[in-house]
Amino acid sequence: MRILIGDDSLTHRVMLEAIVRRWGYEAVLAEDGQQAWELLSAPEAPRLVLLDWEMPGLDGLEVCRRVRARQDQDPPYILLLTARQETADIVAGLDAGANDYISKPFENTELHARLRVGARMLDLQRELISAREALEFQANHDALTGLMNRGAVMRAMEQAMQAAGQGGQTLQIGLIDVDHFKQINDSHGHPAGDAVLQAVSRRIESVLRAGDLVGRYGGEEFLLLVNGEVDEAPAFCERLRGVIADQPFVEGQVALRVTVSGGFVPLTPSDRRGTSELLAAADDLLYRAKAAGRNRIFFNQADDGARQAAPAAGETKRSAG
Ligand SMILES: [Mg+2]
Repeated sequence: MRILIGDDSLTHRVMLEAIVRRWGYEAVLAEDGQQAWELLSAPEAPRLVLLDWEMPGLDGLEVCRRVRARQDQDPPYILLLTARQETADIVAGLDAGANDYISKPFENTELHARLRVGARMLDLQRELISAREALEFQANHDALTGLMNRGAVMRAMEQAMQAAGQGGQTLQIGLIDVDHFKQINDSHGHPAGDAVLQAVSRRIESVLRAGDLVGRYGGEEFLLLVNGEVDEAPAFCERLRGVIADQPFVEGQVALRVTVSGGFVPLTPSDRRGTSELLAAADDLLYRAKAAGRNRIFFNQADDGARQAAPAAGETKRSAG
């Protein structure tokens, strides 16, 4: 582990560096508070900090205050070094944001023990951060497909709509539904159905570009948000339809033919519709794609009626799903 040693005394720096090296730490040296602050502001900054209180310019206390004011997710652990022994001073140091302090002169064994405490706290902090990130991921993602869940994709959609409106960009908002999904479950079992949903998710992702979004909207229904002008919609919808329909899904020994139906509506910068209206419009197109025989994705171009991306040769059947 690396330790930042900030001390304006060359003698102290050299001595501290030699000591911590012997304990297996790597030392990064700062000659004053300003340099310490700059090193702490750089990417990959040391997380364990040994900081002299009394330094010209920025003193150790001020460096502590600046570090705490940043409110990082993963702040450094700061051990303040001071000749001061008064309780009021110690309180001031801790209040400024130091994690701990040690009074000069100190015993090396005590410094070593306090650094070990710091390293332990930093490990614990990292564990908590990973646990929180894992929980956040779980809260926002669908466990089966790994896609954003409904709540998360709706929030992401709201944000993307705002950004696109401000940036003058057009978006395509779409709902995709796996055709006859109930039959897949009934005929091949739920594990096969789950595998199909996972594979469909990967295939949808394969036709998306950076900045596009997809989430699991419902059971076998997906919400997509795709960047692109209205005249790009036909080609995109055909790619999306084809990437699902053109290759069978192999589950165990069985090759399953899976298709999707969908509806896409454009959102131009001047369009004032909100998410619920857009989703209702996309859902209406999806319904019409199902009614027209499935394995097709209908889209609105400008404000005319729906056109479609459909299989070249008409096949597909009726019934719900
Ligand atoms: Mg000093």
